[in-house]
Amino acid sequence: MKYTPVIGLEVHAQLKTESKIFCSCSTAFGAPPNTHVCPVCLGMPGVLPVLNKKVAEYAIRMGLATNCRINMESRFARKNYFYPDLPKGYQISQYEMPICEYGYVEIEEKDEKKRIGITRIHMEEDAGKLIHDPDRPVSRVDLNRTGVPLIEIVSEPDMRSPEEAGAYLRKLHSVLRYLGICDGNMEEGSFRCDANVSLMPLGSEVFGTRAEIKNLNSFKNVEKAIRYEIQRQQDILDDEGEVIQETRLWNPDKELTTSMRSKEEAHDYRYFPDPDLLPLVLDEKWIEEIRTDLPELPDEKKQRFTEELQLPSYDAKVLTAERELADYFETCLETYNNPKQVSNWVMGSLLGLLNTEGKSIAQSPVSPPMLAELLKLVDGGTISGKIAKTVLEEMAKSGKKAGQIVEEKGLVQVSDTSAIEALADKVLAASPDEAARYKEGNKKLMGFFVGQVMKESKGRANPKMVNEILRKKL
Ligand code: ADP
Ligand code: MG
Ligand code: ZN
Repeated sequence: MKYTPVIGLEVHAQLKTESKIFCSCSTAFGAPPNTHVCPVCLGMPGVLPVLNKKVAEYAIRMGLATNCRINMESRFARKNYFYPDLPKGYQISQYEMPICEYGYVEIEEKDEKKRIGITRIHMEEDAGKLIHDPDRPVSRVDLNRTGVPLIEIVSEPDMRSPEEAGAYLRKLHSVLRYLGICDGNMEEGSFRCDANVSLMPLGSEVFGTRAEIKNLNSFKNVEKAIRYEIQRQQDILDDEGEVIQETRLWNPDKELTTSMRSKEEAHDYRYFPDPDLLPLVLDEKWIEEIRTDLPELPDEKKQRFTEELQLPSYDAKVLTAERELADYFETCLETYNNPKQVSNWVMGSLLGLLNTEGKSIAQSPVSPPMLAELLKLVDGGTISGKIAKTVLEEMAKSGKKAGQIVEEKGLVQVSDTSAIEALADKVLAASPDEAARYKEGNKKLMGFFVGQVMKESKGRANPKMVNEILRKKL
């Protein structure tokens, strides 16, 4: 390709506060339409908004976690436009003086670390929801979401590939969830992303004209849509055409973007400072309190896992992506302190089992002490690693403890020399041809014999002893 892609993302994160940003209505999801509303969020004349302090606290938390400067004074502005889901005719947002600016997060792509700049983080209110009747030409308005708090996180145009954009988005998602300020559910719209994409000739420093892509409701779609958009713009430029500045919609079924509006049709929002809200002036002491309260974040945790626990960087990355998973892992270590072994079992077996059941780690029927108990049985030689896999499956299904399953199903490992010798004799007697070929030098047949003995023992024979005994006998 003769071009370098340039990508900047705008992310909207719904904050997990109990009440809305400028009134005391509940933010709970799924209530009957228009039950979580009041004169303020309905946009009645003569009522006044009052800022929810938690919203500012959460925005500051995110700003600190992403290395932003926290502005001691910020302002709310009105963004004016008409739409049926916006009863006031304007959205309260921040424009000229946002609460956080000049931050960055670090991403890792193909083992290379890179900083992605964060231009700004600002607070704003969400709009309502239109529900279109599939049977009649009627749309209904649900204003429960009107006034639910959001932060918008605007990146610098620092990303150069769909993969980098994906890594950046995952990092933001992970940090928001670590901080406990956003549930990150993309399908329900509590974590939304718009992508700005342009191309410039290789070696150039001058950005090309960008298109903004909306309707990206999964990580996969973000990367797919950007990939599609790069190809679309490349085709235009190769034909000596001109990319126009516009907003485009991603169609996930057809996997393409279509034009929504051009720059000429773009809104002029006529931003101005909201006269109903005072400038927000922060207290240095409060910011320090919030800073002290920050949890260990994914990057720090990952570093600790590689340095102190000696985990490979890949393991550390997977285990720290979600705070719940990292907590699960560390709780296992409290009673079974073998990090690499626990990591292997969590990443290799447990996550796979949970995945097929569509469960998260928090919903795991196998608790950390239960997994620790299972691994101790393997270490103590009570069961083999192979049997342990089936025991784990059974634990996930029944919620029973490892010891109980091993006892009920008679899975205790056979480490009794005479019992294994008897099985070996039986196998060797049944396969005289193979035994002869082994003795003539075909050493590969060892695997066959071991397999047969293991089969005879229903997987319970101690594999190390099986090997030794067979070698002696052959
Ligand atoms: P708008 O309000 O029109 O969306 P912004 O200045 O807020 O414009 O920019 C939105 C996003 O577009 C930012 O994330 C920024 O990094 C990105 N961006 C700006 N210029 C380009 C470009 N030429 N190519 C790709 N992304 C860009
Ligand atoms: Mg934009
Ligand atoms: Zn309200």
